[in-house]
Amino acid sequence: MAKAQVALVRAEDYELTRLKGAVERALDLLGGLERFVPKGAKVFVKVNLLPPPSPPERGIITHPVFAEAFLSLLKEITPHIVVGDDLHEGRSFDIGGYRDISRRLGVELLNLREQGFEEVEVEGVILKRIYIARAVREADVIVNLPKLKTHALTLFTGAVKNFYGVIPTGLRTQLHGEHPKPEEFAQVLVDIFSAVKPALTVMDGVVGMEGPGPANGTPRRVGLVIAGGDAVAVDAVAQSAVGIAPSRVWTTRHAHARGLGIGDLAGIEVLGEALAAVRVEDFRLPPASGDLMGRFPPGITRWATRHLQARPVVVRGRCVACGACVRACPTGAARLRDGKAWIDPRKCIRCMCCHEACRYGAIDLRLDPLGRLFRVAEAWAFRDRTHRTRQRAGGKGQDTSSNPGRPLDKR
Ligand code: SF4
Ligand code: SF4
Repeated sequence: MAKAQVALVRAEDYELTRLKGAVERALDLLGGLERFVPKGAKVFVKVNLLPPPSPPERGIITHPVFAEAFLSLLKEITPHIVVGDDLHEGRSFDIGGYRDISRRLGVELLNLREQGFEEVEVEGVILKRIYIARAVREADVIVNLPKLKTHALTLFTGAVKNFYGVIPTGLRTQLHGEHPKPEEFAQVLVDIFSAVKPALTVMDGVVGMEGPGPANGTPRRVGLVIAGGDAVAVDAVAQSAVGIAPSRVWTTRHAHARGLGIGDLAGIEVLGEALAAVRVEDFRLPPASGDLMGRFPPGITRWATRHLQARPVVVRGRCVACGACVRACPTGAARLRDGKAWIDPRKCIRCMCCHEACRYGAIDLRLDPLGRLFRVAEAWAFRDRTHRTRQRAGGKGQDTSSNPGRPLDKR
């Protein structure tokens, strides 16, 4: 079987000319952009603009300069370009810096809900029918521009998970509630991914996010553009570049097992930089143990969820009572009480939607003592040298001497 090809190119910062050069080199290594996008094709470009709105320097969204670097190359092939995500408000394009790109390059920005969603059949493990954004359905070619980040529930969010944004928000909340186990939820994500089939993925790994991602972690310089026609393989290479074994990430495992891509490094040809030369050795993982749940038999998963998975805790001093967590919560566990958010532990299924929705760092993820102990054991079992070092060092001692791998503005 032919190996999947993934291009790995260094990109130190978001300076447009340099970054455009790095993206172009990645595409050249893969045989050129024309290999993936026919001339004049109608292209939908899925960026990650995770609502509510965030400025690019927080490391939550696909950086607008990264998008511009790619889009300026795409414009040479086709004028029919729509860039979009499903957003609570159009301000995400302004705050995220996309409005300026749209004006400069003449590309259309679309909040996916403006054109609505279409019910389609999928041959999923869990989903048999799903609503997908019309703009995605109507495109000739889909291009994926995800962000390299950790995720408190799924451990990693990148290429495959980026397509959770092409279904309606309400359905996203519902599916989180119906499938709280990470292993099962990852099947839902892969079901959606199987209905989209991007032709090309170009991942923004210039500055990623470590720690409690996807919205409350710390921006971390990884210094990479990671690109390929196989989104699963792009994820696997990105995970490996930050020290996560691809087999630990359920979306990659499921997609690989279902033949939707190659998630095993042995089946991937890395072009450009060698993985070993760019690997970030001390990339911090989320404190949650969502990825642990799938390792238990169903009978003890509930117990394990209670004791080994992190739980959301409201930091009252930071809460501004904006209500974003309440709207995101699929079970009604998050509520506003006495002018602050409050979480009912009896109703909480630990889906982490509230943590993802809060832009004020007011939802912390905490492990019980047993969970902390298990984390240490897990780190040892997986030979996760980085994480073990951090446990011993109490979160200190991060190597700041080299680049890639230099931490950015710690909040
Ligand atoms: S916890 Fe965060 S999202 Fe929830 S109300 Fe407070 S500030 Fe808003
Ligand atoms: S409180 Fe947060 S983690 Fe708990 S169910 Fe609601 S959104 Fe999910």
